[in-house]
Amino acid sequence: MTKIFQTESVYVRVDVSDYFILSRGTERAQALLGRAQLVEESIKRHVDDVAATSIESDGDYSCSHCELEWEEWEEADEEGSAAGLGFMRGEPMCCDAASEEWREAKAKRDAAGKKASA
Ligand SMILES: [Zn+2]
Repeated sequence: MTKIFQTESVYVRVDVSDYFILSRGTERAQALLGRAQLVEESIKRHVDDVAATSIESDGDYSCSHCELEWEEWEEADEEGSAAGLGFMRGEPMCCDAASEEWREAKAKRDAAGKKASA
């Protein structure tokens, strides 16, 4: 028995350098995205037989207030409290500032929803 390699698609992955990007957070992500777009344009301009290009990225979300990794409460009972601690499903876990902002935005969304359905 011989294992035979078969494929319909082959991809080239190009990792963009973060050399000289000194900013953090969203600015850093935008700078990396800008570099990726330049590389993509160069590939389209200078390389033959490329069927398609796309820009993909991986990373984690962080909180704009405390910069910790973004995590949300997932468990919630019918009153909207998680684990009896008074948190709502989807509410950020990291800090009070993020919780307050999230609750204010949710209250606005809920009020707008009630107006729309009334
Ligand atoms: Zn936070």
